[in-house]
Amino acid sequence: MSEQILITGGTVIDPTGERHADVRIADGRVVAVADRLGPADGDRVIDASGCVVSPGFVDLHTHLREPGKEEAETIETGSRAAAKGGYTCIVAMPNTDPTQDSVSVVEFVRRQGEIAGLCDVRPSGSITIGRRGEQLSPLGELAEAGVHLFTDDGDGVQDPLLMRRALEYAADLGIVLAQHCEVKRLTEGAVMHEGDCCSTFGLPGWPSIAEEMMVFRDIELVRLTGAPVHILHLSTARSVDLVRVAKADGLPVTAEATPHHISLTDELLAGYDSIYKVNPPLRTMVDVEAVRAGVADGTIDAIATDHAPHAPETKEQPLDHAPPGMLGLETALGVSLAHLDMPVAAVVAALSWKPAAIAGVADDHGRPIAEGEPANITVFDPDETWQVVPAHLASKSRNTPFVGVELRGRVRHTILRGQLTVGDGTPRR
Ligand SMILES: [Zn+2]
Repeated sequence: MSEQILITGGTVIDPTGERHADVRIADGRVVAVADRLGPADGDRVIDASGCVVSPGFVDLHTHLREPGKEEAETIETGSRAAAKGGYTCIVAMPNTDPTQDSVSVVEFVRRQGEIAGLCDVRPSGSITIGRRGEQLSPLGELAEAGVHLFTDDGDGVQDPLLMRRALEYAADLGIVLAQHCEVKRLTEGAVMHEGDCCSTFGLPGWPSIAEEMMVFRDIELVRLTGAPVHILHLSTARSVDLVRVAKADGLPVTAEATPHHISLTDELLAGYDSIYKVNPPLRTMVDVEAVRAGVADGTIDAIATDHAPHAPETKEQPLDHAPPGMLGLETALGVSLAHLDMPVAAVVAALSWKPAAIAGVADDHGRPIAEGEPANITVFDPDETWQVVPAHLASKSRNTPFVGVELRGRVRHTILRGQLTVGDGTPRR
C-alpha cells in the first residue's frame, strides 16, 4: 500500500545538484518536483524547512547477524536501524552462520529483508566457501541469483592465486569483489593499532602494513585482470595514497571509509574498553586526517558503516576475548557531518549515489529526485545536534562508542518506495 506524500520547503540534494523544491510522491514514485506544490486531497504533508531532501542512503557494509547470531541482530532489527539512519538499501555481509555462499542462504536473507519491509536488503556473497579462503564459492550461480558484491569480509583472501582466479571470473560475470585488506600472518593476536599507544598500553598490535600490503597486492591484481575491486573500510594514510595512485592510473578501484575511522583514534584504547575494538583497528590522528582528506577529494568513494552488532555478554569481555566491531547505521550521518569538513552535498554523495553505483543498485537507489523516479528518499536536518541514547536505538545491540558524543545531522524521515519507514525520527513498524 503506498502513501501520497508532499514534502515542502526542503533543499533537494541529488546527483544533479542542489535546489529548493517541493516534492510529491504517489504510487511509490516521485510524481512532481517544483518550486511550490499545493497539498492535494489525501496528502500527508511533511514540512522539510531547514532540512535536506536527498536520495536514500545506501550502506555497502552491514552485518545483520541473521542467520546464526540473532541474539545480536536480526534482519528485521538491523533493517529498522538502517531506516532510522536514513538508509533505503543495505548490503548484507556474508559472514553469517551458515555463510552466504549458496543461493539458498542469500535467498533467505533477501526474503527476510522483504518481510521486514523497512529497507532493501541486498545480500552479498562470500568469495570463498565458508570464507575459508580455500575454494571459490559458486560465483556464477550467485551472480545469476542477483548477487553483485562478493567478499570474505572479516577476513581477506590470503592466497594471491585464488584472488587472481576470483578476479578473472568477476571480470566475466560483471560482479565486484570487495576486499577486507589484512595479511593475517601479521595481525595474529592483535587487539589494536600497532604504534606508540599500543606499546604504552602493552597491547598486541595490528600493523598498518598488514592492510597496505593487501591493498597494494589487490591493486596490482586489478591492473593484471582488469576486474574491479572495492576496498572495504580502509584505515591508514598509506592505503589512501595507494588508492589515489590506482585511480590516477585509471584502474577500476573503489574504496570506502567507516564513520569511526574518520572520527576516533587509537588513544581511546587507553581505558582498555572493548567498545573501541574494531577491525581494522582505530588508527592515529595522522591516519584519521588522511582518511578524511581521501573522502574529501573523492579518493574514497563511499562512507560505509561496517555496522557490527554484538550482544553485551560477548562484547563486554576483556579486550583479547571481545569480538571486534561497533554499531554504525543510526549514527553514520551524524558522525560524518560532525567530522568531515565538506559540503553537505559531498557527504550525501558518499552516503547515497556513490555507494549505490558500487553496490549495483543504481537503478533503484541514489536516483535523482525527479518525476518518474522511485521514491527512495531521506529527509534530514543537517544542523541538528544530538546525542545517542542507547535505549532509543533500533538495533538489538548497544555496542556504540558514540554515547555522550555530540553528533551533527539527524534523520527525520525515511521513505522506501513511497512508504514512510521512519516518520519524525520514529520507525513506523
Ligand atoms: Zn565488516
